[in-house]
This record gives sequence, C-alpha cells and structure tokens, in this order.
Amino acid sequence: MAKVNENFEKLPGSYLFAEIARRTEAFQDANPDAKIIKLGIGDVTQPLVPAVVDAMHEAVDEQRSADTFKGYGPYEGYDFLREAIVENDFKARGVDIAPDEIFVSDGAKSDCGNIGDILSRDNKVAVCDPVYPVYVDSNALEGRAGEYDVDAEEWTNIHYMPTTAENGFCPPIPEGKVDVIYLCSPNNPTGTVLTADQLKAWVDYANENDSLIMFDAAYERFITEPGVPHSIFEVEGAKTCAIEFRSFSKTAGFTGMRCGYTVIPKALVRDGQSLNDLWMRRQSTKFNGASYIIQKGAAAIYTDEGARQVEQALGYYRENARVIKEGLEDAGLQVFGAVNSPYVWCKTPDGMPSWDFFDLLLEKANVVTTPGAGFGPAGEGYIRLTAFGDREATKEAVERIKAVL
Ligand code: PLP
Repeated sequence: MAKVNENFEKLPGSYLFAEIARRTEAFQDANPDAKIIKLGIGDVTQPLVPAVVDAMHEAVDEQRSADTFKGYGPYEGYDFLREAIVENDFKARGVDIAPDEIFVSDGAKSDCGNIGDILSRDNKVAVCDPVYPVYVDSNALEGRAGEYDVDAEEWTNIHYMPTTAENGFCPPIPEGKVDVIYLCSPNNPTGTVLTADQLKAWVDYANENDSLIMFDAAYERFITEPGVPHSIFEVEGAKTCAIEFRSFSKTAGFTGMRCGYTVIPKALVRDGQSLNDLWMRRQSTKFNGASYIIQKGAAAIYTDEGARQVEQALGYYRENARVIKEGLEDAGLQVFGAVNSPYVWCKTPDGMPSWDFFDLLLEKANVVTTPGAGFGPAGEGYIRLTAFGDREATKEAVERIKAVL
C-alpha cells in the first residue's frame, strides 16, 4: 500500500488568511455598502517597470528564431543574471560573492521551503516567534518539527525565539545548541531589522557551534537607514555559516513573474560536505531552472534605466509605509517597522487581543489588517499592516483608523 507523508496530517490548517477572508466576507455581506480597504495582504499592486517589460518582450521575440531560441537553461541560472547580481547586490556593497555562489530560482519561497532537502532530519531548528510560516511548515513536513501542540500553538521539537518590543525584536541567542537558525531581516511580519552587531553575535554563535543560519533578505531593498546590513555576508565570518535567500518579488513586482536567488558560499561546509555542491545536486535533480524570459526581466532591474524605475516604484511603497506609521502614531498607537520595511507592526491599544483589534478596525474603520497572533504566539497583541496598497486608499484607511481611535 502506498503510504503518504504522515507529517502532512500533523500540520495545523492554514488558518490565518482563510480566517481573515471569512471575517471580511461576513462583514461585507452584512454591510454591502461598506467600502473595505485591505491593508492585510502582502502582495504588490504597482505594475512591472517598463525596462523589465521591454526586456521580457525582447526575450519573447528571441524565441521566434532558431538562432536565439532557448531550450532548457542552466539549473543554477544564466550567467548574465548571476553576474549582474554579484556586481550590483554584492560588489557594490563591498561584499565578495562569486557568480557560482548564486543559484537563481523561481522565488524565495521555493528555496526557503526546499533547502531542507540537503539537511539531516536530526537537526534542531530555531525560528523567531512571530515568524514567516514557510520555515516552520517546511521543516514540519520533513519530520524535523516533532508534534504540533495545539494549546501552545508550537511544535515540540522547534526552538522558538520570541521577538517582541521587550527584546527590541532581536531573537535571543539560545543557551543550548541549535543546528539551523532562520533569521529574516527586514523581518516579516515585524518590519524590524537586525543590526550588524546583532548579526555578528549570531554569526559567531553559528561558527562556534557548527550551526547554519538561513538568512532571508527578501525585503532587503526596503532598507533606508545607513549602516543596516542588506546581506548577512556583510558580516565577517558569515561565509562559513550562512545561506541567504533573495527575491525579486517585492524588489521589482515579481510576485507573479516568479524569480529569486539563493547565495551559498563555497566556503560553507558541514559534515565535510560543500553545501554549494549539495544544493547544485539538489537543484539539478528537482529543478530545471527559472524561465529565460523571466531572468531577462530580472536582469533589467540592474540596468541604469531599470534601477531608476525600480527605485521609483519602491519609493511609492516606502511613502505608504511612512503614511501608515505616522498616522497610527498620531492615533496614539505604538508602531514598529515601516522605516526599513513595507510592513508596519503595531501594538494593539491597552493590550487588546490581536483578533479583537482586527474586528474593531474591520467593523468601525472598514480596514482589513493581519492579526499578529496569526504569525505565532508572541505576535499576540500586535497587528500587521502593509504598505503595498494604493496611495489614496492607504491614506483613507489611516484617516479612518485615526477617527475610530
Ligand atoms: N520570504 C519572506 C519573508 C516573505 O515574506 C516572502 C513572501 O511574502 C517570501 C520569502 C517569498 O518570496 P517569493 O515571492 O520570492 O517566493
């Protein structure tokens, strides 16, 4: 008899966005005239920039002729994109990464979710709480998480590191040994960043313990403050202990195009094996490369014109983040994130539970947010708002929230 992966049965339902949709729909049905504004969803709304669209058109036209037609591409991505990444995302920031340390993919979610293929099931995994759920669920599917404790809303074999206002949103270094640590900066959902010193402490811990840091930098382009690391490889010692995930999704509106990349330094060795070699082996076995057309589009963001256009689109979201942050602060709320991130993480008033504040804002302001509790127990008492919406709708939402509070 064919048996299924029993770990699927242990996964709790993906309750958060389904429950938000259910409550929103129920409210709209009961109040058909209400003009609901959604600041909950993490998807972009601005179109692709012209340089990207033009590059993709050209790439499509190349497929008409046998001379320029492309079949299967390199598993690890085309050199033109890997070289542009190295020059612009790393060398320009003083970081020495080689093109063969870059693996282009169809997005950071795939890579974050698949990276466990090259790791033993015996590893002890640490995640922040609240957390982007992909890290936890992918480890659970691979049998590394233990059992799900419904009351605690935690997996028995995962080490959770609360990141809250009380500890400045910096995950505390564990007293014992953990093998694989997921860090995300700028963070989803808290919108906060880790400083160079904070990252250095983690890099030292990982090198001392032969641990591995999975560093998710999907929101790196939203960093505005000088001195905040854009890559973990800006920190000395990181090449012997870290893997970094990057995405074109929020950087350049590629949520629907699908493109990202993962950096695995050649110097990264565990159990006597090169993780760069293992990932190459994994990708060549299970992945046939990102689309040529999409990679051409991604490379266009590194041209002068493309870079200028992308910066303009990012500026739109950064301004939205500022509008939300300042508006909520005017309303007397305690607000985190936003400055280096498209996410605004807001403390609920008077310790109100996340879902109660969500309901209040939905019913009284007709604004949809995301309850922090949905990202983990330590997210209780917060809500997340995103800067990816339309400017006028964002302003209107903020004014309505201020009026309610
Ligand atoms: N990492 C984080 C922290 C995210 O929030 C997201 C998307 O929301 C991703 C990765 C996924 O990125 P991609 O669209 O490249 O798969």
